[in-house]
Amino acid sequence: MSRLLFQGVPGVADISEQLHAQSRRSLAPLLPAGVAQRGGERSLLAGVARSLQSIADGDALHEECGVVAVYGHPHAAREAYLSLYALQHRGQESAGIATADGQRLANIKGMGLVSEIFTDDVLAKLPGRMAIGHTRYSTTGDSALLNAQPIRVDSTKGLIAIAHNGNLVNLGNVRSRLERDGAYFQTTSDSEIIVQLIAHSSAGSLVDAIADSLSQVEGAFSIVMMTRDRIFAARDPHGFRPLSMGRMKNPGGPDTVVFASESCAFDLLRAEFVRDILPGELVMVSEDGVTSRQYASGIPQSSCIFEQVYFARPDSRIFGRWVQESRDQMGRQLARESGVPADVVVPVPDSGVTAALGYAEEAGIPFRFGLIRNHYVGRTFIEPEQRVRDFGVRLKLNPVHNLLEGKRVILIDDSIIRGTTSRKIVRMVRGAGATEVHLRISCPPTISPCYYGVDTPSKKELIAANHSIEEIRHYIEADSLAYLSLDGLLQCVRDENNVGYCTACYTGNYPTQWVDVEDILPAAAAI
Ligand code: SF4
Repeated sequence: MSRLLFQGVPGVADISEQLHAQSRRSLAPLLPAGVAQRGGERSLLAGVARSLQSIADGDALHEECGVVAVYGHPHAAREAYLSLYALQHRGQESAGIATADGQRLANIKGMGLVSEIFTDDVLAKLPGRMAIGHTRYSTTGDSALLNAQPIRVDSTKGLIAIAHNGNLVNLGNVRSRLERDGAYFQTTSDSEIIVQLIAHSSAGSLVDAIADSLSQVEGAFSIVMMTRDRIFAARDPHGFRPLSMGRMKNPGGPDTVVFASESCAFDLLRAEFVRDILPGELVMVSEDGVTSRQYASGIPQSSCIFEQVYFARPDSRIFGRWVQESRDQMGRQLARESGVPADVVVPVPDSGVTAALGYAEEAGIPFRFGLIRNHYVGRTFIEPEQRVRDFGVRLKLNPVHNLLEGKRVILIDDSIIRGTTSRKIVRMVRGAGATEVHLRISCPPTISPCYYGVDTPSKKELIAANHSIEEIRHYIEADSLAYLSLDGLLQCVRDENNVGYCTACYTGNYPTQWVDVEDILPAAAAI
């Protein structure tokens, strides 16, 4: 289902329309009711992508994006590709790479996985020693190719390509102000708002215009930007989303400077981790080297704690901490807070694995892979006549009967969102012969939606926003249910860096002023 959009690449047309139409025909029967009738390519594409994703992931939460940037490498596009490959878990709907060779700025993006879009032939069309890249799961805007990133805009400040991870929360206000000032938007993406602010800024230099525009937007953004000859990287003043800088040594020449949402991307490049970009910091890389400025200060840090719980890869170091270490501690703390006699500790793979290892070690109970995950589900070709309801969690997980039969099982997972997936997993484990199933969650109950780049359902769909823990336990049919306490979670991510964390999805206390309060009013939803 790969479909490409080429910008600034001479002689290359969008050749995939036919393939795309074929995909629409074969996938239409799988779409949720109403999507096909609504028509319109954007709705259709969004529906296709979300249907496949929901089949694969049940009611899991989705991260919005991963970003990368490379400065000063003869194969910058290939290095960006490898970095994006390592960040694929942060978004699987679309990906893009833009490169600059000092004169031109080329941009290719497509729907699908990084490896599906960027073949050798495609990478060969991206010349230059600089690159930025993006992999996307959409929340604001939709998943259409038009909103895939990087976005390349010819502005009053010259050609700019931008890629962005996060969500702006004062988007409506800024957008209408810009439109009143004559801005014409080509996409519904947050990133274009930032470019338009740069274009409309009265600041004299580009770097001042970028700083000026970033200080006008509220919300979560880790951004990489590129002009014909410079790369910029910035984090919002709260530091919601991670963004790190690394370096590759080049014998006899200047280092290559790289940026990525997570440090695991540096490992594939054999780049060394240098540091996190600070909240409110704007870093510029040019032929004069790396320079930095704080465009905002004095705002308490509120980095997303759910990155530590679920999103980031355990082999990444984010917010100054190894994710693996945080999750191991979460499992140990969970065992101390809510231990229960049992025969085996079983993770819900993959994200529950590290916490389950910590739990098992702390509790002195054997760890077993009692559930096996099929990693290829989301991209498997699905016969049109099959119905979405026939798939569900069995497509993704399968129980290992001989490990579960006759056992008292502690299941470790990282969240319960609507409760439907957890119930299926508990039933699956019991169906494989477990005599008891105790579900333990490595974070507190999710009671409020996220406005900062995580695709959470509305409050009325969040089971913990509307039901007690005992009601949830009853619904999911577990013998017992316990969550990690908020204090316990904060202890697990605390270190000498004193990073402040956003915990709004567990508390309802949002660190920014602008949120859609309509959506966070108490809901009266039935399960
Ligand atoms: S609301 Fe939750 S998911 Fe969103 S940024 Fe805050 S901690 Fe992260």
